[in-house]
Amino acid sequence: MNLLKDKVALVTGGSRGIGSAIVRAFAAQGANVAFTYLSSEKPALEIQEELIGMGVKAKAYKSDASSYEQSEELMKNVLADFEKVDVLINNAGVTRDNLMLRMTEEQWDTVININLKSLFNLTKQVLRPMMKNRSGSIINISSVVGDFGNPGQANYAASKAGVFGFTKSIAKEVGSRNIRCNAIAPGFIKTDMTEQLDDKTKDAYLTGVALKRFGEGKEVADACVYLASDLSSYTTGQTLSVCGGLNM
Ligand code: NAP
Repeated sequence: MNLLKDKVALVTGGSRGIGSAIVRAFAAQGANVAFTYLSSEKPALEIQEELIGMGVKAKAYKSDASSYEQSEELMKNVLADFEKVDVLINNAGVTRDNLMLRMTEEQWDTVININLKSLFNLTKQVLRPMMKNRSGSIINISSVVGDFGNPGQANYAASKAGVFGFTKSIAKEVGSRNIRCNAIAPGFIKTDMTEQLDDKTKDAYLTGVALKRFGEGKEVADACVYLASDLSSYTTGQTLSVCGGLNM
């Protein structure tokens, strides 16, 4: 299938986990892919070569999504290399879990800056080029935790709940320019982020999952393909949950 043929996608945090599944799924659908990493240089460069081997244009850029200056620089480089951006996926994210009584200011700031401020940093860069093209799709990776809340994750839940409000506002601001903005709320997906959790916590999650298994990065990536492609041309300001029917 070539659902994204000749589209250019920019994905933050494409070096591991869900982001690496997204860049692979997009290349498989014919998209040219620019993606970022922060510290995982070797995996990022290996993925870049893998995507090029799939017959598309691909490039990995080292860029901290929480930095406005680096995001501005990134966009300049991506436009110089790819000429346009049709799809932005704000995927980069981290956890710094702690109960509120013990949470440090640094843990709070790190999570808010990487998970939420990054949406401002990157969306601001792509809007003008998308407006010029009178077309675009922005996909923000939130979490079911932004809806349900979770003890020990007040910083993470706040950042992910912020993603919902941001998504709906941008959808209303730029809908008349044919730019769509949607969120995806994954549940428990098997990546490095969830690998750190102890077995007791994993079992507790699994009890609430209707499908009785954890998700794969590819299952989130397939939802991104849908929201990036013309199959979702009348969908904006929405959240698509990819959580196996999780109830927390
Ligand atoms: P992951 O395996 O830990 O991967 C995180 C990715 O984000 C890596 O590629 C990492 O790059 C990148 N990254 C981190 N900080 C960055 C920064 N400041 N600038 C640029 N890139 C940065 O995490 P994941 O599980 O794939 O999560 C991806 C997204 O899905 C996150 O937004 C997360 O909150 C969300 N999510 C995940 C789950 C889940 O169950 N896994 C559930 C709900 C939502 P480097 O390795 O190069 O640092």
